[in-house]
Amino acid sequence: MPIRLLQPEVAAKIAAGEVVERPASVVKELLENSLDAGASQVSVEIRGGGADLIRVTDNGCGIPPDELRFVAQRHATSKIGDAHDLEAIATLGFRGEALHSIAAVSQVQLTTRTAADDAAHSLLLQWGSTVSQGVQAAPPGTSVTVRDLFGNVPARRKFLRSPSAEAARISDLVSRFALAFCEVRFLLTIDGHSVITSPGDSRPVNALAAVYGAEVASGMLEARYSEPAAGGYEVWGFITPPSVTRVNRTYTSFFVNRRWIQSRPLSYALEEAYRGFLQTGRHPIAAIHISLPPQDVDVNVHPTKREVRFQHEDRVFSAVQRAIRGALLAHSPVPPLQVEQIP
Ligand code: ADP
Ligand code: MG
Repeated sequence: MPIRLLQPEVAAKIAAGEVVERPASVVKELLENSLDAGASQVSVEIRGGGADLIRVTDNGCGIPPDELRFVAQRHATSKIGDAHDLEAIATLGFRGEALHSIAAVSQVQLTTRTAADDAAHSLLLQWGSTVSQGVQAAPPGTSVTVRDLFGNVPARRKFLRSPSAEAARISDLVSRFALAFCEVRFLLTIDGHSVITSPGDSRPVNALAAVYGAEVASGMLEARYSEPAAGGYEVWGFITPPSVTRVNRTYTSFFVNRRWIQSRPLSYALEEAYRGFLQTGRHPIAAIHISLPPQDVDVNVHPTKREVRFQHEDRVFSAVQRAIRGALLAHSPVPPLQVEQIP
């Protein structure tokens, strides 16, 4: 076969392969958009593990009608202006790719209204093309409904796991957002059943209670560390005492400037901080927030922004370790197990 330039619709699917791996990726991108829009309430509804339907509705700023035609265009974004902006990203999204990639592999209905408009404007897209546009009554905010995900990419649809497994990933994801944004009320409904309701009352402990239960949340220890210099790194969060553990690491979350990330070095910092406090094979429940100047963290290194690169990884590592170790030692000045001292 001769070498050819891919048709735009083919190229769009390839990009979608990176950003939109599964229903949970769609939910993640839509939630990020709702939070970037300043929403104080976001509801997520899914059916059939998200493959049949995903609906994310927010009360954020909405999209002005004259900008609506740009939303699903690739690299159309309101969040960054030039390449320079990429060096200090303050929003969750910035690539202008998500809606384009989602719309390429599904049927998307977007209804949006700004506070300045009297009516909502809607857009129906199917497999990347605009099918219809309209005006309707709706409260201010945005609602995006994604139907028949990967309906035009059978190979990708085939690789989805069972609806319950995909729903579990979505539930896990919504939980992490609830922990990261405790001032936002999150609601998750799976096949008509309400699964997560976070109060959105700005109290981290109540968000933890919504995710891990009131008993675990009320027994958690507060961890805190801030570098003495102004503009320095700050770490805060909640961790379980050594008496409350789990057998795997999925109950620990790290948020960098409110973005949930996965980081081996940070997981290691947490393990190090607990050294001597836990039996091997046991892991704490923890939600750790790190804030640092946006120019000190590169979020543009991973297609789904799951991993980030720190300018000064050692500083982040030691701040996390100090915060956690400090909380544990304040709770129990002598590590109960003293593992290192066993000959
Ligand atoms: P990005 O988030 O990287 O800018 P997206 O494709 O996710 O790219 O969204 C494109 C644009 O559509 C955003 O920059 C934003 O202006 C607008 N938008 C998308 N979702 C919402 C929403 N829920 N509320 C308000 N504006 C939105
Ligand atoms: Mg986005």
